[in-house]
Amino acid sequence: MENKQSEINLFLAEPRGFCAGVRRAISLVEEALKKYGAPIYVRHEIVHNRHVIENLKAKGAIFVEEISDIPHGATAIFSAHGVSQTVIKEAKEKELNTIDATCPLVDKVHRQIKKYANQEMEIIVIGKASHPEIIGTLGQIPNYKKIHIIRTQEDAEKLSISPDQNIGFVSQTTLSVDDTAEIIKTLKEKYPNIKGLEQKDICYATTNRQKAIKALTKLCSCILVLGSPNSSNSKQLKEVALKNGAKQAYLIDDASEVDWQEVTQHQNIGISAGASAPEHLVTDLIEKFKQRYNKINIRSIIITKENINFKI
Ligand code: SF4
Repeated sequence: MENKQSEINLFLAEPRGFCAGVRRAISLVEEALKKYGAPIYVRHEIVHNRHVIENLKAKGAIFVEEISDIPHGATAIFSAHGVSQTVIKEAKEKELNTIDATCPLVDKVHRQIKKYANQEMEIIVIGKASHPEIIGTLGQIPNYKKIHIIRTQEDAEKLSISPDQNIGFVSQTTLSVDDTAEIIKTLKEKYPNIKGLEQKDICYATTNRQKAIKALTKLCSCILVLGSPNSSNSKQLKEVALKNGAKQAYLIDDASEVDWQEVTQHQNIGISAGASAPEHLVTDLIEKFKQRYNKINIRSIIITKENINFKI
């Protein structure tokens, strides 16, 4: 390595990293491995993080995308993103010993959409149609026709549901809280009687991590977000950083992906981690800074303390 740089300030977002839903989902796989022994099948990545998946694979978890990939009668875990009713039915037909790691907050959205369908409401779903969480949510009411999937404010403006209809909305748990608030504002202006929960009230972890990263943008010109590229909430953290004034923001799977040429241009660096990224990645990253700088000043920017746990 070239000569060490002199000094850098690292600002750590708090909270960051694992949320209660992710901790619960990972524990369920680890407990199942202890109780039933390897292999344990997991339908879809239990959470969207490469390091978590590699670690669980090494312990004997096998990740598959379809129930048809799981042997008859095996133990299978549904990922934190939730699954459709069709998947549950397929698992029953195959006599799988199933464990449901769906996050309780996603489950709440499932209950909400089923309630709207029972009341024959027009349902607006805010989210990405191809994301497993939205596939699972829509899969709670598979043959329901009065569904409208939207992603942007323009989509909301274009909706042509008659305002005298009974309308409800649900949204993906990991979206940008600010963008979704704008979409919901548009929906409420168009449909004053619409029912649904504000994004900030859906998932505490998404809300807190985005608030914390916004606080970092007041202090740092460059922000590093630890998380995998397929992690929706991690990607949002990077986007929120850029939208709120960070000159540079990078989503990195681990310290090996840091663009040091860029990072060394900045004096104040913000660090956060998506809800599925383990804390050891943050520790490793700080170690890399220690190797490159003579002096590092570390400060935590604490927005709130989380003490939420979901029962297994
Ligand atoms: S980000 Fe929120 S909804 Fe997703 S697993 Fe974590 S707590 Fe649950």
